[in-house]
Amino acid sequence: MVEPSGLSDLRPLPRSLDPLEDESLPGYLLRLSYRLGIGPGPLVLRAGLPNSRRDRTTLIRIPVSFAVSLDEPDIIALCYSTRLSRREADGLLLTSLGSRYGALNPAYRGRQPHRGRDSFSTSRLQYNNPWVLTTRTQYCPDCLAGDGSEIQQSLGGAWRRLWRLPPVFCCPRHERFLRRYCHHCGELVQNRHSNDLIARPRDSELHPLQCRATPQQGELRAASPACGADLTQAPKDTEPILKDPRSRNALFALQRKFLSFLSPDGPKQVSSVGWIVPTAQYFQDLRGVVALIFMTWPQARPHAATSELARVIDAEAARRHGLFHSRGAEPRKNLRSTAYTDPPDDSVVTGAVLEIACRLLRSPDENAAAELLVPLVDEAKRIHQPISYPLRSPCGASIPLLVVLAYRPRGSRSRRDHIERIAEGHSIRTTSSCD
Ligand SMILES: [Zn+2]
Ligand SMILES: [Zn+2]
Repeated sequence: MVEPSGLSDLRPLPRSLDPLEDESLPGYLLRLSYRLGIGPGPLVLRAGLPNSRRDRTTLIRIPVSFAVSLDEPDIIALCYSTRLSRREADGLLLTSLGSRYGALNPAYRGRQPHRGRDSFSTSRLQYNNPWVLTTRTQYCPDCLAGDGSEIQQSLGGAWRRLWRLPPVFCCPRHERFLRRYCHHCGELVQNRHSNDLIARPRDSELHPLQCRATPQQGELRAASPACGADLTQAPKDTEPILKDPRSRNALFALQRKFLSFLSPDGPKQVSSVGWIVPTAQYFQDLRGVVALIFMTWPQARPHAATSELARVIDAEAARRHGLFHSRGAEPRKNLRSTAYTDPPDDSVVTGAVLEIACRLLRSPDENAAAELLVPLVDEAKRIHQPISYPLRSPCGASIPLLVVLAYRPRGSRSRRDHIERIAEGHSIRTTSSCD
C-alpha cells in the first residue's frame, strides 16, 4: 500500500466497503459514511481529501469535481484510508468512462488549443460539459433497492456512474425511465443546485437511499430536516407514461444498445454514417446530431419511430425555440446555441431525440447519411447562419460525420475520397452496419 506523503496523521478507516459494480464516488461515500455513522463530509476529511487541505476538522462542501476525477495525491490518500485498490478507486470516477464516452475524453472535447499543463488533464472535464451530469444524478428506484444481498439490503444498491450520462435515460432491466427529482419533494435527491457533490455533508442520519433535499428554504435551512423520502418507493404511476408500446420498446432497445456500447467489455469501435469510429467518438456524433435535430425541428420529425415520440419532441423543441429567440435579445448572445446543444432534462425526451439521432447515424454509408442530414444542415443555415456554424461542425465529432455535414461533392471528388484524404488512411468504411 502506498503511504500518502504529507498526511502523517492519516489513518486507515476502522471499516471499509467493497465498491459495487459501476458505483460512483458519491454513492460510495454515502454508503461508507452511513456504515461508519459519520456524515459524508467528515468521511471525506478522514479519507484525506483533498490532500492539499491543511484543516481537517471543518468542511463546508464536497466539491463536485470529486465525482469526475481526483488528483494523484488524493487517489493515493483515498486508497490508503479505505484500503481500496487503485483499480477500484479509479473505477469510482467518471473519467474512467472516457474510453467509452467522448464527453469524458479530453481527445474528443473540442478543438480549442489547450495550454500549459492542462493539455491532457482530466481535471477540466467537469467544466462546460453539459453532456455529463456533474451537478445531479439520475436513478432507477428498483436498482437502488439493491439485489437482495446482505450488504445491499442494509446499505442499498449502487448509485451508478452511468446515471451521470444523459444517453443513459432508462433502465431496461426494470423497464423504468430514470428519475432526477424526488417523488416526494420534487427536488434533486442527492445535492442542491449548487456546487455540492452531496447535500447536507454533516448529516449522518440519512440512509444512502434517502432524499437529501432540504425542502423548506429560508433562514433556518441548515437546521431544517431533510426530506428523507425513501427513493426506492417512488411510485411507478407518477413516471412518464408512453402509451404506445412501440414507443417504449424503441427506447428500451436503444438503451440496451447504448449500455452495451458503454460496458467495459463492449465494442471499442462502432459504426457511424457507415464508417468505423471509436465508441467514445460515436457518442460525440450523437450529441452533434441531437443539436441539429432540435435547431431544425420539425425537419427530422418524419424520422421519429412513432408519432407519440414525435409529439414528445414537439413540446421540447417549442420550448427550445422560445429560449433561442429570447436569448437573442440578451447581452450574452453566445449562450444562444446552448438552447439546442444542451441535453434535455427529461429522460423520455432524451430517449426520443437520441432515437432519431441514432437512426440518422445508422445510415449504411456517407451518401445515404447525407440524404438525411444535409436537409438539416441547410435548414440550420437558413435559421441562423452564424449560430448554426458550430452545430454544423460539432466539436469532437468523427471525420466521416463532419464531412457529411460540411462537404458538398464537386467534380470528381466524392465524400468518400474526402473522408479518406482528411483521415489519412485512419478511417475505415464498414462492410456492413455493425450494430
Ligand atoms: Zn433498474
Ligand atoms: Zn425529497
